[in-house]
Amino acid sequence: MGCNPRYEVLFEPVRIGPVTAPNRFYQVPHASGMTNALPRVRAKFRETKAEGGWGVICTGACSIDPSSDDAPLPYATLWDGNDIRAHALMTEAVHRHGSLAGVELWHGGASVMNRASRLPPLSPSGIPWMATHVGFMGNLRPKTMDRADISDVLKWQAEGARKARTAGFDIVYVYAGMGYLGYEFLLPEYNHRTDEYGGSIENRVRFVRELIEVTKDAVGKDCGVALRVSLEELRARPGRNQPSEAHELVELLGDVPDLFDVKMDSSPTDCSASRFTGEGSHEPVIDFVKSLTKKPVVGVGRFTSPDTMVSQIRRGVLDLIGGARPSIADPFLPAKIREGREDEIRECIGCNICISSWHDGVPVRCTQNPTAGEEWRRGWHPERVERAAAPERVLIVGGGPAGLECALTLGRRGHRVTLADSGSAFGGRLTFEKTLPGLSAWNRVVDYRLGRLKAMPNVELFLESTLGVDEIVDLAPDRVVLATGARWTTMLYSAMEIPVGRLDGEKIFTPDDIAAGRLPEGPTLVFDFDNYYMGGVLTEHLAAQGVPVTYATPAGQASAWTIMTNELPLVHRALSRRNVPVVTLQTLKAFDGEAATLSHLFTSEESRVPCRSVVIVGLRLPRDELFQALETRPEEIAAAGIRSVDRIGDALAPGAIAHAVHSGHKLGRELGLAVPARPYRRDMPIVDIAPDFPMRPAAE
Ligand code: ADP
Ligand code: SF4
Repeated sequence: MGCNPRYEVLFEPVRIGPVTAPNRFYQVPHASGMTNALPRVRAKFRETKAEGGWGVICTGACSIDPSSDDAPLPYATLWDGNDIRAHALMTEAVHRHGSLAGVELWHGGASVMNRASRLPPLSPSGIPWMATHVGFMGNLRPKTMDRADISDVLKWQAEGARKARTAGFDIVYVYAGMGYLGYEFLLPEYNHRTDEYGGSIENRVRFVRELIEVTKDAVGKDCGVALRVSLEELRARPGRNQPSEAHELVELLGDVPDLFDVKMDSSPTDCSASRFTGEGSHEPVIDFVKSLTKKPVVGVGRFTSPDTMVSQIRRGVLDLIGGARPSIADPFLPAKIREGREDEIRECIGCNICISSWHDGVPVRCTQNPTAGEEWRRGWHPERVERAAAPERVLIVGGGPAGLECALTLGRRGHRVTLADSGSAFGGRLTFEKTLPGLSAWNRVVDYRLGRLKAMPNVELFLESTLGVDEIVDLAPDRVVLATGARWTTMLYSAMEIPVGRLDGEKIFTPDDIAAGRLPEGPTLVFDFDNYYMGGVLTEHLAAQGVPVTYATPAGQASAWTIMTNELPLVHRALSRRNVPVVTLQTLKAFDGEAATLSHLFTSEESRVPCRSVVIVGLRLPRDELFQALETRPEEIAAAGIRSVDRIGDALAPGAIAHAVHSGHKLGRELGLAVPARPYRRDMPIVDIAPDFPMRPAAE
């Protein structure tokens, strides 16, 4: 099957200064959590996207000087010869597939704390960048840059550009977004300067213009020079001779950069979760840019639909379709469109687990694509699996995310797979969770897998089939995989975080009760110490149905962990819109049918919240009765010829859907093979050469 003629425009080349992108699929800079400490992991991760057809592949933020140090977050560096070698692994890998490699040169300004270097952060006027995320908070305020500092940063940018060219990059960035140094010069609140770098928009843009100019002087003959700029805040400010300061910035810089990479200002709006924001959400902010420059424009918007991409190009919004999350969820998205296989796209669900990986300081994890970050470590390719030498009959019990992914992987390996679930639909926890406010896109986890499984002749799917030991022994498969999930409990913890037993009662509920249609009555308290999305979204769900709800948690904020996925501010906004009182720093002590007794986490002061029902969203434990029962009958299992019984996903260790999918994929890859001595290959930094690695000479 070939490319749908409607989508052919996506495969046109685009000139970016002296280089040409082979198509319009542009993997914009995004954090990988890999840094120069894991250069091979990073190179393979990026290469896989080039192999899948992305025409441009960029790094994440890459520091030009130790005075831009985001430790302990996993940022990249381009400081010396070792760094050049580390990046060259990626550029060579990307070039093997005919794609261009871009580097996001970066100076963090006042929004980094320089925890490792202990150098004072640099800023236009000594105004600190405030953070609401404890990981970003620090106790070192920035110094005001003097003229020498300004010329130093310009020098580092030029040197960084030359190192980037030596490393083999084709596109070199100037970064003026997301609170970092260039951006701080653009906003008058951070830039109080009275010299030629402060005051009017012309003056505030000057530093960014000079960054672009020194980059062009350094490498402009060989490399495209891109400007990445956040426009949300500037778009909201009226301009003097244009509708907004964002318009004025683009007009002033016009044709200075070779490419405009335009984005939003803060992580929650730039990389918004699907729970609160749809595809293409940046358009109202960035739609004007192309009208004020002749240079190509790239932007993002969690694009997974080729029709939306084509529409952006035809309507003159973008020239290049930027993707970060869509490229993680499906590195082969462009290839699938080119080959007319759009129905095989593994669409990003917008859960932002990938973002949480960066906040956690670990290589990127993805709910939809379990191979993300595992390309080199475990040798997993997103589109290829090793065929089984001898196909076996595998019975998988449970068709949630783990069971579906395991069935898909085993099916692709050529095994004869039977997937059975007791429910009336496949999807496990998602059959309920997809109905909760904002979570419908999450069902792509199920849709993608079921779509593939239904097309596989070696896979049989059975619903409304509750399997016990007798049924399994009767079926006598070669192998059994249990993906029976987990259940929520009514277990509570003390203020010392010690389990204090269950709080049971007729009017005590868990999310499982609500999933089963057993709704609380009357005023209800949702007590959440799971801290991820469930407590908050269930509260929204109950409030939407007219149940008066109070949300209480021992944490400092509602759905506290969602700070990691950029959702936290929007969770609070959603609860506030529903008039839900949010009570923090409380443990739940008792419930007498009339009121719940809460105790303050730190002072133990007690308070009573009148309510008729309590929903506890706390600890999940594996639903593993079947596993336990199989353990008690080993002779029958052996007599039936069953060679192994494994657990995956929540049945093994309850967690986020991303963990269940990874667990199902892992067993699918490894079933029947010798378990490796170490779970994954260990990468090492490149430190074996002198830092004065020779620069690649400039082209004449
Ligand atoms: P995970 O996230 O690990 O995939 P889920 O809870 O989403 O787990 O899915 C578990 C699935 O297993 C549910 O759809 C449930 O109906 C099914 N299940 C649990 N026990 C049995 C059983 N004994 N027989 C068949 N299906 C089962
Ligand atoms: Fe998309 Fe979620 Fe994967 Fe991130 S983790 S790429 S948001 S599916």
